[in-house]
Amino acid sequence: MTSAPHESSLELAARLGATAEVCEVVSATPLSSSVHQVVLAGPADVLAGVAGNDVMIKLDSDSSKIVRRRYSVRSVDEAKDRFTLWVTSAHEGPGSQWARRVQSGTHVDVIGPRGKIALDPLADWHLFLGDVSCLGAAYRMAESIEPPGRAIFIVEVEHPDDALTATFDEGVAITGIFVDRMGRAHDDPSGLLGGLSAFAFPPDAGHAYLFGEFHVMKVAKVALLDRGLNEGSVSLKHFWRAGRSNADHGEPDKSDD
Ligand SMILES: Cc1cc2nc3c(=O)[nH]c(=O)nc-3n(C[C@H](O)[C@H](O)[C@H](O)COP(=O)(O)OP(=O)(O)OC[C@H]3O[C@@H](n4cnc5c(N)ncnc54)[C@H](O)[C@@H]3O)c2cc1C
Repeated sequence: MTSAPHESSLELAARLGATAEVCEVVSATPLSSSVHQVVLAGPADVLAGVAGNDVMIKLDSDSSKIVRRRYSVRSVDEAKDRFTLWVTSAHEGPGSQWARRVQSGTHVDVIGPRGKIALDPLADWHLFLGDVSCLGAAYRMAESIEPPGRAIFIVEVEHPDDALTATFDEGVAITGIFVDRMGRAHDDPSGLLGGLSAFAFPPDAGHAYLFGEFHVMKVAKVALLDRGLNEGSVSLKHFWRAGRSNADHGEPDKSDD
């Protein structure tokens, strides 16, 4: 049994002001056509942070280089010291392959908590916009909304069964709009923009959280600003980029070319 993280994980965690720990894979199971649920056993109180945070996983790699991917924490089971990730698994990449192949009992280096986007405590309504990769972060954040509050999800899905649902506090109003990609390109924002235009913004204070593909999220942010939200009410994190692998440390390429 490996008890200490790889030296590179310890160094990276120290640089990031986070913690590196070895966690054990409890299970990795398909939830839908495009999502695998990975449950990890480890110090969730140290690694999982607050709703909106993610962890960095060091993937097993055939090559000598170290590859890490970031995944939002979907949920935490503090009693069992476990936490859950929802990992997109229908494309080909080191992260998706890891989620499909990893066996229970495997040890992985996990660095956490990571991420700067948390729920806006002053917002009356919270709009979560993205693709299937946003569901873990969006649902954990929405589960932390105090009643009376409101959560709206506008999510583009690949397959009907990717429209995964969650259970929320009865005092929180929920609106879900799932948009079928219908074969459009992954960097085509028209599906999400269509979903957004179907939603009338409530008159009180709102905050939008954008998690997903680089180009689509950029265009969606402009659309939200056009609809009257200000910069401070829109939080955006690019999760991945169509046609390009994320870098070995887990971030997508954000260059303009
Ligand atoms: C802060 C943060 C939080 C994140 N949270 C999550 C999360 O909770 N769940 C999650 O699934 N991902 C999340 N991501 C994205 C994740 O880290 C990976 O980038 C993503 O899973 C792809 O990694 P990969 O190694 O499988 O593919 P890569 O090597 O990055 O890419 C290989 C190919 O697959 C394509 N591709 C990558 N992702 C997708 C996709 N979702 N759909 C279709 N094609 C794709 C790429 O364009 C590329 O052509 C997050 C990213 C960040 C930065």
